[in-house]
Amino acid sequence: LAKERGKNNYQFYTLEMTERSMERLTIERGLRHALVHDELRLHYQPQVDTDSGLIIGAEALLRWHHPEWGLVYPDRFIAVAEETGLIVPIGAWVLHTACLQAKTWLEQKGPFKCVAVNVSPRQFVESNLFETIKQTLAETGLPPDALELEITESAVMQDPENTLRVLQQLQALGVRLSIDDFGTGYSSLTYLRRFPVQSVKIDRSFVMDLPNDEGSKTLVRAIIALAHELKLHVVAEGVETDAQFSFLKTQQCDALQGYMFSKPLEPQQLKIGITTAEF
Ligand code: C2E
Ligand code: MG
Ligand code: MG
Ligand code: MG
Repeated sequence: LAKERGKNNYQFYTLEMTERSMERLTIERGLRHALVHDELRLHYQPQVDTDSGLIIGAEALLRWHHPEWGLVYPDRFIAVAEETGLIVPIGAWVLHTACLQAKTWLEQKGPFKCVAVNVSPRQFVESNLFETIKQTLAETGLPPDALELEITESAVMQDPENTLRVLQQLQALGVRLSIDDFGTGYSSLTYLRRFPVQSVKIDRSFVMDLPNDEGSKTLVRAIIALAHELKLHVVAEGVETDAQFSFLKTQQCDALQGYMFSKPLEPQQLKIGITTAEF
């Protein structure tokens, strides 16, 4: 029986693998097409200043408007884009588009501070990320401190020396750097000390079970205290409820992002400077 089941499992796996590699191929081809035919879009999720309740920034989140599949979310294509290297041209498009958008928000003279852009490990390794960013800022006229790059600990882990070098160049240029999904990777503390970042984003998995789960409470308190001790700005992601909000406010988390305030929006829907009460 065990043998039979093993055999079936094997067949099941190979079938699944074939289907997966075909899907990957379809996505890869689709992405190449998307880049040329202008099917990519950015949505922006407001970042809210905890004390004032004002929208002070936004995270750019990639969307793919596929002519047949409809709106496709990054979880379905970012991994393929990374593996194929397509994330390099896609990432350059994201940077350019987000900087152009941020420029218009900055010109509105409100409390808008910066746009946050996610950057993949591959963009550090494979492209001259520093030059791309420098050029993008020059082309769009966006001041460097109005751009924040979100990097994950895994990005740093893949090639710490190279990543550190690029981050130092970017810091010297005046770009802001943030560690995304903080707490989910390895060696967080080491990198906090070594890398020139200005902020950390507490991962949604820690925010999710606030304020009832003791473990999450302890962790979030500790992350905020540690970050503040290191003079870092703290953003919480995935804030969905009033109870999470008031816990984070009590703990003096600096900024908040989540469905409680707003889902990611099309750029024209986002009104910088209004308070959360006006949503
Ligand atoms: P992330 O950078 O951690 O972004 C946060 C994700 O959580 C977004 O998903 C956002 O829509 C979602 N989110 C925000 N608030 C809430 C909430 O209150 N509840 C829940 N359940 N979810 C919330 P999204 O847009 O699907 O993006 C997923 C991931 O894809 C991002 O995670 C990021 O790692 C990656 N990604 C998105 N855009 C880009 C991009 O332009 N370049 C790269 N390299 N990666 C990107
Ligand atoms: Mg992010
Ligand atoms: Mg995140
Ligand atoms: Mg995340």
